[in-house]
Amino acid sequence: MKVLLAAPRGFCAGVHMAIQCLEIALRELGSPVYVFHEIVHNRRVVESFEARGTVFINQVEEAPPGGVLVFSAHGVSPAVRQAARRRGLRTIDATCPLVAKVHSEAIRFAREGYTILLIGHAGHDEIQGVIGEAPHAIVLVRSLDDVERLQPPAHAKLAWLTQTTLSVEDTARLIARLQERFPHIEGPAKEDICYATQNRQQALARLCGLADVVVVAGSQNSSNSRRLVDLALSKGTPAHLVDGAKGLHPGWFHSGQTVVVTAGASAPEAAVQEIVAWLVQRYGATVQECDGRIEDQVFALPKEVRRIVASAAQAEAREAFV
Ligand code: SF4
Repeated sequence: MKVLLAAPRGFCAGVHMAIQCLEIALRELGSPVYVFHEIVHNRRVVESFEARGTVFINQVEEAPPGGVLVFSAHGVSPAVRQAARRRGLRTIDATCPLVAKVHSEAIRFAREGYTILLIGHAGHDEIQGVIGEAPHAIVLVRSLDDVERLQPPAHAKLAWLTQTTLSVEDTARLIARLQERFPHIEGPAKEDICYATQNRQQALARLCGLADVVVVAGSQNSSNSRRLVDLALSKGTPAHLVDGAKGLHPGWFHSGQTVVVTAGASAPEAAVQEIVAWLVQRYGATVQECDGRIEDQVFALPKEVRRIVASAAQAEAREAFV
C-alpha cells in the first residue's frame, strides 16, 4: 500500500487563531471559559478543551453573569453579541477574519438596499451569524432548485454572497446560474470561499486520479471536511470522513492500494498521523508527502486577547521586580 499525504491539509489560519484565543483565555483567566457553539467544528479539539475546563454552550444564558464567553471561529449574529452584553459577560471574539468579511459585505449590501442571496448550508453556525446581520434582506440559497424558485420583485437590487467553506465547483455553478437569471446581480469584490477551503480542494482534486481510496480527517459537522469527501466521490473515488484511526474500517482497504489522506481545516495533524500509523501497521504502507501550495497566512489575535497577554506579561514583570 502507498499513502499519499495531500498538502496543504489540516488547520488553517482562522482555526489556529481561534484555538490560540481559547488557550490564552484558559491559561490567563482560568476555567471555566464558556464558548458559544464549538470553537471549531472538530470533535477532538472540542473534547480536549472540555477536559481542560471549557464549557460549550448553545444559549448565552448558560454562562453565568460576569463569566468569560468566547465567540467561535464561525462568528455570531449581533443578537448574540447583544445578549452577551446584557448578561454582563466578558467576551472574546475568535471569529475568523474571513468570516467577518462576509458579515461586513452583508451589512454593506443591506444598507445599500440590496436583497442578498446567500449561498450556504441552512443551520450552519456561519450562516446563522451572517443572516443575523440583516435578516430582512437575506435569502438563503442552498441549491440550483432554490435559484430556479427565486421570484424577486422586478426592480429589486440583488447581490450574492457565499459561506466560506463550500465546494468551489458547486458554488461556481450556482453563481453562474444566478448571473444568468439576474444579469445585474452584484457580488463581493473578492470571493468568499476562503483560501484554505480552496487550497485543500485543489490539492485533493490533483491526487484523486491516483487514489483507490481517500480518507479525510475531520468531523461530520465540518463543512469544509465534508466538501473534501464530496469532491472525491464526485470523481468516482471512494472517500471516508473520520475523526481518527478509530473510525477506520478494514473493509475499506486492501494491500496494494494507493490511499490519499487529507484533513479538513479544523482537523489536527495528530488525527492524520494516527490514520497513517494505522495504515502502516496493518498494510505496511509506505508514506509520501506530496508537494502543495505553501500557506503562510497568519491572523492576528483579537485586541481583547492581546490585552490579556500584555497584562499577564506586566504582572509577571512586576512579580519579578518585587
Ligand atoms: S476554513 Fe477558512 S473561513 Fe473557516 S476558519 Fe479557516 S480560514 Fe477562516
